[in-house]
Amino acid sequence: MKTSTCKCGGNIKQDRCFAEGFLIDCMKCDKCSETLFTPEQTKQLIRLRDANKDIEGKRKIIKVGSSIAALLPKKVEAYGVKEGIVDSIRVLSSNSLEIKFNNDIIS
Ligand SMILES: [Zn+2]
Repeated sequence: MKTSTCKCGGNIKQDRCFAEGFLIDCMKCDKCSETLFTPEQTKQLIRLRDANKDIEGKRKIIKVGSSIAALLPKKVEAYGVKEGIVDSIRVLSSNSLEIKFNNDIIS
């Protein structure tokens, strides 16, 4: 991983940042928190934005036996999401959960 030096003297390292509501790779100064995006990271943001445009919307949660299941739009199959085990589910914010897969669904 390449590091560079910020104007403030801190080290700029790869990190994860929120941009437009998406959690993406970024370059961040460990001292002043200045955030930059490489051309590849900018492309990643555009791909996430496009994918989100494709699948965003209101969905339902249904009861399945003693569990509940969130119904995802069929379009997510195009991203390699299929029935099976997800890597983890965790709280992301006060009103959202993150469903994490063990491989990238949007590269
Ligand atoms: Zn800095």
